[in-house]
Amino acid sequence: MTTPRERAGRRGSVRAPRRAPGDDTARDAAWMGRALRLARASAARQEVPVGAVVVAGGRLLGSGSNRPIGRRDPTAHAEIVALRRAARRAGNCRLTGATLYVTLEPCLMCLGAMVQARIARLVYGAADPKVGAASLMRGRGLRGLNHRIVASGGMRAAECAALLKEFFRGRR
Ligand code: ZN
Repeated sequence: MTTPRERAGRRGSVRAPRRAPGDDTARDAAWMGRALRLARASAARQEVPVGAVVVAGGRLLGSGSNRPIGRRDPTAHAEIVALRRAARRAGNCRLTGATLYVTLEPCLMCLGAMVQARIARLVYGAADPKVGAASLMRGRGLRGLNHRIVASGGMRAAECAALLKEFFRGRR
């Protein structure tokens, strides 16, 4: 048996240091701004505008924009490009504790790559109702996988979605 005070003490001991409310959100929004700039770079190259950044310890580790057409590489999604650069820079295929920011909800391939990289947290912008796979991370995560990613969507979603809408409108 533990007293409420003991329980509170324990809870307190595992908590991260206190931060001002909204602090994380402001930081997330700023990193998403970086991803948005990369997405615009994709659009300028006539690629579907998606951008991603990998951040660890408050530092940018890798960034990528979507370019499967230009690279003639079906795996050249923004997330994969960013993960490869981050791993190269870290000198490690495991990016334990890192956060990946991406303007569009990741597909199954990218989610798999994030699991392989041991990404701790995923923050995405616009939802992708067609091929978005982030919902697989909800609850207890993917069955058979021993790594969980804390995923949240909707960060600057309107801006992320507007970029995509504008791109596809221009193509019609
Ligand atoms: Zn993908």
